[in-house]
Amino acid sequence: MNSNISLNFNSVDSSKISTLRAGGEIKNVICPSSVAELTVLSKYIREEGKDFLVMGALSNVLVLDGGYDGIAISTSKFKGMDINGLNVSCGSGEKLSIVIDICQKKGLSGLEKLYGIPGTIGGAVCMNCGCFDTEISSVIKKVYLFDMDKAELVEKSAKEMCFSYRKSLVQEKKFVVIGVTFEMCEKYLYDIKNTMNSVIGLRKSAQPSMPSLGSVFKRVDDISAAIFIEGAGLKGKKINNMQISNVHGNFIVNLGGGRADDYLSLMELMEKKVYEKYGIRLVREVRVEGKRA
Ligand SMILES: Cc1cc2nc3c(=O)[nH]c(=O)nc-3n(C[C@H](O)[C@H](O)[C@H](O)COP(=O)(O)OP(=O)(O)OC[C@H]3O[C@@H](n4cnc5c(N)ncnc54)[C@H](O)[C@@H]3O)c2cc1C
Repeated sequence: MNSNISLNFNSVDSSKISTLRAGGEIKNVICPSSVAELTVLSKYIREEGKDFLVMGALSNVLVLDGGYDGIAISTSKFKGMDINGLNVSCGSGEKLSIVIDICQKKGLSGLEKLYGIPGTIGGAVCMNCGCFDTEISSVIKKVYLFDMDKAELVEKSAKEMCFSYRKSLVQEKKFVVIGVTFEMCEKYLYDIKNTMNSVIGLRKSAQPSMPSLGSVFKRVDDISAAIFIEGAGLKGKKINNMQISNVHGNFIVNLGGGRADDYLSLMELMEKKVYEKYGIRLVREVRVEGKRA
């Protein structure tokens, strides 16, 4: 059956697709649409000894200017959504905010505080994304994964996913999230809509509107890394067209035509200065891939 499947790779310019609007070429992008294709792909990756990266909306991944040479597995074809009572199932390539919009129209509550996070369902699960005291893991019932090492489908409960702050089992294992089932609860449509509007308002007032990858570093003992970055005098610091935001010290923004390598240099500066001033080792939330130009 699998012998008929050929693997088609394309190259994609990350500065055209990442939310940072910066970065180099991702040389071998493949968009599988079935488990059979993933099976063939996993065999190829194992036999060729290639590195791989699963790619959602690239709202949390910095691809350096020299580009990424491994295999980039795009989830753009894992689409679709099915609602069965309080259970909402969707493909990992669906956009989180679109799923929340649809749930709101059906009076299904649980994800609305995450409205405005610009990634896919797969990226959200991998990162256990969250805000305003809610994490995506709180409404997850089942996650459907493809194990790239064993070339098999796996189904895991939220407990088995070992979720914690911005962490999940997906970060430890060679898993591709294919889809998810959420267990929601019922609420009035306008209550859900009000929450969505208020979280968007809070985001607009507290976060920069320029291209970014969201928070650069994780919280430190429940304190925003911005406190330490700003305390180290780095707010507004620029390297060429990348800048530590004047609005929020834990964001690096692209002022226009900025380079991913400069983003990384700013990250390294933040790590160095915060360590020198506070003795704190910041932990990266943004994943860095590829090589400098
Ligand atoms: C303006 C802005 C605001 C943000 N606000 C928040 C916030 O409030 N809270 C928050 O938690 N994050 C926030 N983020 C960060 C980011 O949007 C989230 O981490 C998001 O969940 C990443 O999804 P993505 O599809 O873009 O993933 P990507 O950036 O493409 O990938 C992120 C990680 O997930 C992995 N991954 C992606 N898809 C899959 C899959 N299907 N299977 C296995 N692994 C996969 C990637 O390999 C990578 O390790 C923000 C980002 C921006 C730009």
